[in-house]
Amino acid sequence: MAIANTFMSIETFEEIISSYTASLKNEDQQNLYLISQDTYEDIKKALLGEQVRNTHFRKWARNHFCYITVGADQIVHVKLNSRKENAKNNINRNIHSLPVLIRENMYTVFCAAHLDVSHKKLAGTYDKLRSEWGNINRSLVKSFCERCSICAVRVNRQFS
Ligand SMILES: [Zn+2]
Repeated sequence: MAIANTFMSIETFEEIISSYTASLKNEDQQNLYLISQDTYEDIKKALLGEQVRNTHFRKWARNHFCYITVGADQIVHVKLNSRKENAKNNINRNIHSLPVLIRENMYTVFCAAHLDVSHKKLAGTYDKLRSEWGNINRSLVKSFCERCSICAVRVNRQFS
């Protein structure tokens, strides 16, 4: 269970996710940015050659993900060459894949990253997150920063 932060309630975060989900045009399309624990496990199985879900899903998994073996387990990574427009600006140019951030861990990870860059708003938070994770959506980070209670106070002060 995630521990609530003072600057962003879990409820607010859920609202951000809901609005993002509602904004998606093609709901049937597999979404790289909201991968649940269950989907994560199925992606791993698909990469390991198991016949999970359907051929469309398995093709999607193979196109976007790879895995690295750590001890007895496999960690699913997002292939960074599958998002070329970000690659040229990527901080870690020598890194070819980054781990998948699952939906269940997003709240905790987003809050920690935003705190880590001392509420430096969108650019700082986004760069921090995508230097560590392979599937960070810019509009989700944008909404997150816009709804942060501490950043909101700072914006108000600038205009008063
Ligand atoms: Zn903030």
